[in-house]
Amino acid sequence: MSENDFIYLDYAAATPVDSRVFEAMKPYFSENFFNPSAPYLPAKHARRIYEDTKDELAHIIGAKGNDLVVTAGATEANNLAFSAVSSDSEVLVLETEHASVLNLAKNYQYKTIKVDKNGRIDLKDFKDKLTSNVGFISISLCNNELGTIQPVSDIVEIINAEKQKRALDENQLPLIFHSDASQALNLMEISVSRLGVDLLTINSAKVYGPKGMGALYVGRGIKLKPVVYGGGQEMGLRSGTENVPGLVGFSAAAKLAKEHANGNRKKFEKLNKIFKETLVKNLDGKIEPKFLGNPKKQLANFIPICFDGLDAERLIFKLEDEKIYVSTGAACAALKGEKSHVLTAIGLSDSEIAGSLRVSMGATNDEEQVKIAAEKLAEIVKKELERIHG
Ligand code: PLP
Repeated sequence: MSENDFIYLDYAAATPVDSRVFEAMKPYFSENFFNPSAPYLPAKHARRIYEDTKDELAHIIGAKGNDLVVTAGATEANNLAFSAVSSDSEVLVLETEHASVLNLAKNYQYKTIKVDKNGRIDLKDFKDKLTSNVGFISISLCNNELGTIQPVSDIVEIINAEKQKRALDENQLPLIFHSDASQALNLMEISVSRLGVDLLTINSAKVYGPKGMGALYVGRGIKLKPVVYGGGQEMGLRSGTENVPGLVGFSAAAKLAKEHANGNRKKFEKLNKIFKETLVKNLDGKIEPKFLGNPKKQLANFIPICFDGLDAERLIFKLEDEKIYVSTGAACAALKGEKSHVLTAIGLSDSEIAGSLRVSMGATNDEEQVKIAAEKLAEIVKKELERIHG
């Protein structure tokens, strides 16, 4: 590692734009800059590019271009999804949802569904709370702090049983299922029909595409209300001049993610193992790190770790001195110094939460990098233990 290099292990927070993606975007900032809604030929060309690209992006998740609303990021897509909530119905969300869902739910009559110690949905609690007045359910495909993958087919089975019950009871309230797949698109092949979702959020910023780009898949018959009013773009649901370079970048990035999902999963499984083994070995039994979540039901690039009794923020600052960048959890919560609601939900004590950090791997990481990072982390942890206990 040369002096100016750093080791970035916070890919769940942000991914750099892939150079191929950047190249694909460039012409649409400059020579093909036209507003797709303008009437002359070059603008019509921009319109064609935009619609074709939307088709391509939709195709990646097994949908059609007309099923997608392009948004300025996943937060906005989640907000748009919630516009489907009917005023007299109740909303159910998982207690570990990203702030963009959890804080949104607070504007409605809502309940949270519990998770187990690995962050997986408590299906019994879900069934109990899925009462006849629930109209909207939002459960992310993969959690952004733990990488936990939710059992969507089990969830959909429960939803379908409730729909059948409603049909028999002549209960007309529709039951809409939304899932935020922001973290999932990188390593999982996603098909909206196989998943059985009505609404699905995808996020460019997590798949080596440009930030501030997202999209909401909208299933047939789902009625939404605009979140941004204006010129009527995106079927009137999300006005504002179409972001042609942004969409071109998002689609190119999502295509690369899909192509490499299998290979990347294998790569990260290997690196995950190397990181954990190197860390444990170099800790010399001085402390046993608790690896959070169940690796069999977790995105392979996630390594959330708890060092009970230590201050994770101090560990992160010490790692930063070594040019190794990790975070405590969700970047937005970390910034506000809030206690992680995800780690609280999986039953960690305050001292365990204070000692938890999230390593999330990505494209630039290799065996050498993860070994160095794990060795340095072990060294820092041992020094901290010495400082505290002498
Ligand atoms: N949903 C999840 C699961 C996320 O991880 C994030 C980003 O951290 C978001 C939504 C919000 O994405 P954005 O900041 O691009 O709107």
